[in-house]
Amino acid sequence: MKAVLDHVGIAVKDLSAELAFYRDALGLHVDVPEDVASQRVRAHFIATGQSALELLEATASDSAIAKYVEKRGPGLHHITLRVDDILAALEQLKSKGVRLIDEHPRPGAEASLVAFIHPSSAHGVLVELKEAVVSHPSDTSQVRRYRVGELELISLFDGFIRLDGGAMFGVVPKPLWEKQTPPDDRGRILLAMRPLVVRGVRTMLIDAGLGDKDDAKFHDIYGVDRSRNLDTTLAEAGLRPEDIDIVLASHLHFDHCGGFTYKASDGRIRPKFPRAQYVVRRGEWDDATHPNERNRASYLPANYVPLADAGVLQLVDDDQTIMPGVRVKRTGGHCMHHQIIYIEGGGKTAVFAADLVPTTAHLPNAWIMGYDLYPMDTLAAKKAFFADVAEKDALVFFEHDPAVAAAHVREDKGKRRYERAD
Ligand SMILES: [Zn+2]
Ligand SMILES: [Zn+2]
Repeated sequence: MKAVLDHVGIAVKDLSAELAFYRDALGLHVDVPEDVASQRVRAHFIATGQSALELLEATASDSAIAKYVEKRGPGLHHITLRVDDILAALEQLKSKGVRLIDEHPRPGAEASLVAFIHPSSAHGVLVELKEAVVSHPSDTSQVRRYRVGELELISLFDGFIRLDGGAMFGVVPKPLWEKQTPPDDRGRILLAMRPLVVRGVRTMLIDAGLGDKDDAKFHDIYGVDRSRNLDTTLAEAGLRPEDIDIVLASHLHFDHCGGFTYKASDGRIRPKFPRAQYVVRRGEWDDATHPNERNRASYLPANYVPLADAGVLQLVDDDQTIMPGVRVKRTGGHCMHHQIIYIEGGGKTAVFAADLVPTTAHLPNAWIMGYDLYPMDTLAAKKAFFADVAEKDALVFFEHDPAVAAAHVREDKGKRRYERAD
């Protein structure tokens, strides 16, 4: 088993005294606290290089931390080892006769799964195991429903894909991003694909994930896991492909529009949604049908050229309303004609951020993908986006986040954080 020291947990009696030491005397940066409801504690993380310190404050008198402090006073509480697969790690430990406090993992801070080993088996040390980003949690692929005025929003799921971690975070150094999203042994990080249905006067699908036209080599390179996919989640949402009236593209990269078409039994590639008009921005269509050496790997013609052949393609030129309550806004940056989608009604706003802010790890302005063709445009677009989101208290949909489908974004002293909306 490969294990990395993730953090050292410190039980806190008097938070202000602890902050006076770590923050004021040592001058370390203390993160915005996070409540871990399952353990009735509030966790304050302090970045210290590869590993962190975690100050643990009890939020209820019956929490394990409260009892620990009462019995032994404040101080060192546990060490946490990060593993790739917590289920496999627990199995291995059980087979070696190690005594476990948690036979099954439970949700920890920062969208992780955790389990504690009994100190009697670790010679007096309380050891916590952690799988950092929940990699196959049953709940990250669930269909989720939201409401914006008269409109119903349904978040779907088209599986996981793995992309190079360095490319996903651009100029951000690996020691920073790998703490949030640990890479696998091929340097790739886990990403989800989350198309969104909007039901109003018509039924619209925004983006459609990867689809199922790719071969085994492609699946190996990109670590594709579509055991749950757009077909299964569409059905769970009570919808059939023929219920979709409009398919709207944020842009035409393969992880967004692969599901626009499928390979029929006669071997021909056809539109997947038989009644739908497919709405694509004209500039993006032109770029996708005239790729260059830099963007060619992202544009696979089988995903969109058959739409034109079938006469179901509708090109739009400018920022405009696509159906009542749904409008597109060009951001550029990621590609010249990348667009985000605003969903508005009853005084409320939701935004499908597509690849402008692909995951919650991309909240800071400088965390911009290396894939982006025009990163300075992304930077400007992100600043404008978050100012607008704050003003409208908009719900943001993160198309690629492995764990969070939608969240509200809060800003404290220039640092952004998110509050899950599900
Ligand atoms: Zn893209
Ligand atoms: Zn993407």
